[in-house]
Amino acid sequence: MLDQKSKLTLIFAIIFAVLGVLFIVESQKVGKLRLIFCDVGQGDGILIVTPGGKQIVVDGGPGTKIVDCLGAKMPFWDRTVEMMIVTHAQQDHMEGQIEIFKRYKVERVVWSGVENTTALFSVWQKLLEAEKSEVHLGRSGDKLKLDKIVFDVLWPTTEMLNVWKIVPPVDINDSSVVARLEYNPDTGSGKAICAYLTGDLPKEILEGLINKPCQILKISHHGSKTGTSQEIVDLVKPEVAVIQVGKNRFGHPTQEVLDLLEGVEILRNDKDGTIEIETDGKSFRVN
Ligand SMILES: [Zn+2]
Repeated sequence: MLDQKSKLTLIFAIIFAVLGVLFIVESQKVGKLRLIFCDVGQGDGILIVTPGGKQIVVDGGPGTKIVDCLGAKMPFWDRTVEMMIVTHAQQDHMEGQIEIFKRYKVERVVWSGVENTTALFSVWQKLLEAEKSEVHLGRSGDKLKLDKIVFDVLWPTTEMLNVWKIVPPVDINDSSVVARLEYNPDTGSGKAICAYLTGDLPKEILEGLINKPCQILKISHHGSKTGTSQEIVDLVKPEVAVIQVGKNRFGHPTQEVLDLLEGVEILRNDKDGTIEIETDGKSFRVN
């Protein structure tokens, strides 16, 4: 039998070994950008882990599944989300953020400022106030930076937001904050990896925003035919298209959109579960 002192030494040795392994596992991910499209059911919820290990959450899906995804993909000691974006104020994009506010410290929140009239939106807004996060109203032309990640905000424009102050948008999907995320560790030289994050923006608006090809395209509006056109696919030239979709009664994703993506690798949450794309800024792989 071990005496008391030996038992304690053994316990400490085990704790240090476990922490050591966790630290090695975590540090191997440092230097890589991870785009994690969480399986949140019918909705959008994306966790982005920067090369320095900071977290950006884009949308939160319906329900609370997003926090399971954060719990699984973030180290257990990290309780801070550095930046949280809500593309637009609808349940399938923002409900899960309510649980994120409750469980994590959210340092910065980016949204369009276009409000919804729902009870759910009021709850979200109250939690945002209580959180005392730094609030940034996203406008086209903004460049949001974290580590070596740049978000180029492409929509909405200041002009449209001014119009919506007088006449709210008929379709709140029109107010989706759309951004192109870019990771270029060589700061300007060589090939960069980029991704379009499109919310639920209608294709007619999205077509006018795409100004360069990107390897990764988050398909707008869960694969609805209102979100994707041939022109968009031709302009983006995606290698990978991610469809955030779950069981639904809308027929998402539509066959029209799947046909437009012929020849593109299609990843969808309803079939593939949570999707993780890892990149060093030059090439990427799907995990
Ligand atoms: Zn949606």
